[in-house]
Amino acid sequence: MGVIGAGAIGLSTAWHLAQRGHHVSVYDPRLNDPVHRQGSANDLSGTSASLGVLMGHVFRRSSGRGWRLRRRSMELWPQWIGALQTHQPELKLDLGLLQIAEDEQAAERMEGLASQRVDLGLEIVAKEALNKVWPTATHGGLHSRHDGRIDPLLLQQALREALNEQSVEQTTTAVVHLERNNNNKWSVHRADGESTLHDVVVLSTALTTDTLLEPLGHARAMTPVLGQALSLQLTTGPTSWTNWPSVLVDQGFNLIPTSPGRLLLGATVEPGDCAAEAPMTLMRSLNGRAPEWLRTATVVAQWNGLRARPMDRPAPLLEELEPGLILASGHYRNGVLLAPATAEWVAAALEQP
Ligand SMILES: Cc1cc2nc3c(=O)[nH]c(=O)nc-3n(C[C@H](O)[C@H](O)[C@H](O)COP(=O)(O)OP(=O)(O)OC[C@H]3O[C@@H](n4cnc5c(N)ncnc54)[C@H](O)[C@@H]3O)c2cc1C
Repeated sequence: MGVIGAGAIGLSTAWHLAQRGHHVSVYDPRLNDPVHRQGSANDLSGTSASLGVLMGHVFRRSSGRGWRLRRRSMELWPQWIGALQTHQPELKLDLGLLQIAEDEQAAERMEGLASQRVDLGLEIVAKEALNKVWPTATHGGLHSRHDGRIDPLLLQQALREALNEQSVEQTTTAVVHLERNNNNKWSVHRADGESTLHDVVVLSTALTTDTLLEPLGHARAMTPVLGQALSLQLTTGPTSWTNWPSVLVDQGFNLIPTSPGRLLLGATVEPGDCAAEAPMTLMRSLNGRAPEWLRTATVVAQWNGLRARPMDRPAPLLEELEPGLILASGHYRNGVLLAPATAEWVAAALEQP
């Protein structure tokens, strides 16, 4: 089968399918590029731009597909990381995510979630306990023991190496056209003029998916939503991150300590695909709630990326559009989080009797 697109979704799906004994080929011109953010800060795939935050158990809803996918991914991640560490020993699951309550209403909602999900590792943190970490948290917060973060660059490296070990064929050319043949196979036509036949194709091409789908009569429009991220070096403030969780979320901004005196900050959500200065300034000040040490930190690196948000349909798009044509795309804000559950969904879709 052919997997088109090798971001978190395509790589994870290809790996999972290869482990289950399928013969897999992956197509993506980006497979030629090393996985890093240097020099290409405005031309990153969604996965390379991402922060890798896994907000699984703090999801507001307690039923429906979104909740099921999140729970399943969070069950699978520890096993996946264990297996992928063979290829990338530094890859790890940094556990512990703290959401700050913005107001009394948010604090009440968090209390409700924590009381329902004690078994899943959620607990309320009183404001007094947050004094050292985040003094502006006047309404306390919600700590999730099993949510956290993985490094999306290390993840991609590990998955690429895992694909090599599984002898997955990797083609570094873009796919320009898909065609269904009379014998129910799919011709995958590439930009270099070559084409290959597959029984099944999986589309994990994020924002460009419609270019391949529209000619087949399956339009699934997506809109870009830009996110910005900063790597910061502190000049004052905490010298170590003792007592800090792996991820602190305040008003939707993620703060991720990476090493002593260093942290990542992101990501603003702006419709469109152009980075503007104003949201960046807002992010640095956290709407006026940032501690002094964050406002005075030096920017070491800065990048942005696009999230693919499905229009008129909930994210992600997981569908078998016609026999052998599987769509696994449009993961919007949670593609890294949902990668294992997505891979499992694809395998189930194509293995069903
Ligand atoms: C700033 C930012 C922060 C984020 N933070 C988080 C986070 O903390 N946690 C989280 O879970 N998610 C986060 N996300 C969202 C997450 O990054 C995406 O949901 C996820 O990366 C989607 O993965 P993907 O594989 O579908 O897409 P991508 O990573 O964009 O990969 C798509 C791939 O398809 C390839 N492709 C496209 N067209 C073709 C073609 N015609 N032929 C061959 N290949 C093709 C592209 O080259 C690309 O490599 C963030 C996103 C951004 C922008």
